[in-house]
Amino acid sequence: MAGVSSCHLRHSSRAKRIRIELRPDRSILIVIPSGTREDQWLAFVLSKRQWIERTLQKSAYQPHGRRTGAVGFPSIINLFCMQQQYYIRHHAGTQNRATVVAETLALVCKNPSEKQLFQNLRRWLVARAREEFSARLDGISKTTGLKWSRLSIRGQKTRWGSCSAQGNLSLNFKMLFLPSDLVDHVLLHELVHTQEMNHSHRFWTLMKKFDPKCELHRAELRDAGQLLPGWAVKI
Ligand SMILES: [Zn+2]
Repeated sequence: MAGVSSCHLRHSSRAKRIRIELRPDRSILIVIPSGTREDQWLAFVLSKRQWIERTLQKSAYQPHGRRTGAVGFPSIINLFCMQQQYYIRHHAGTQNRATVVAETLALVCKNPSEKQLFQNLRRWLVARAREEFSARLDGISKTTGLKWSRLSIRGQKTRWGSCSAQGNLSLNFKMLFLPSDLVDHVLLHELVHTQEMNHSHRFWTLMKKFDPKCELHRAELRDAGQLLPGWAVKI
């Protein structure tokens, strides 16, 4: 298929239907409910072929990251965690603000310098991260019984999240650019710390209980920094 870097299959006993996920490295993951025949999922994937090719052509799926040196102000942004993509427009105005209309994020800046634009974009991302991560924490809290109270959103260079001895969570808004399952993994990790402050055997037992793919997610998270767009390093 044009533009696809690689294709992975995952059989899942929990999946109810066939699902296709596009990843920022242009690979595709096909999740198949156990017992699905090969001709069934192949027919499904082929029926989605146009959608896959069209979506990959959008620039947000073009290779990005530090290595490509693409660090200018972006014209498109892909919140991979929510599978949402926005075109970015900007212009001068009387006050700094960010608004979304349909698929466009409009940034209004008093002095639209690159620095101001990045500050505006960062504020918007922090607000989106707060909404999204709080809702997800509530969901994980419901299924695991692990409670949380305070959340701060930061843009740490080297960590995705942390949890203080008082149970206050801190999460990195740049996780908006990571696949959804990795974000949930990090959120769960910090929630488990509200019970077990260290990385003891008991901590990992709890992690594996609530995230059966814990080891896979941990391994994927090690390289996840590469999934961030190049410009995210400097904001
Ligand atoms: Zn930890």
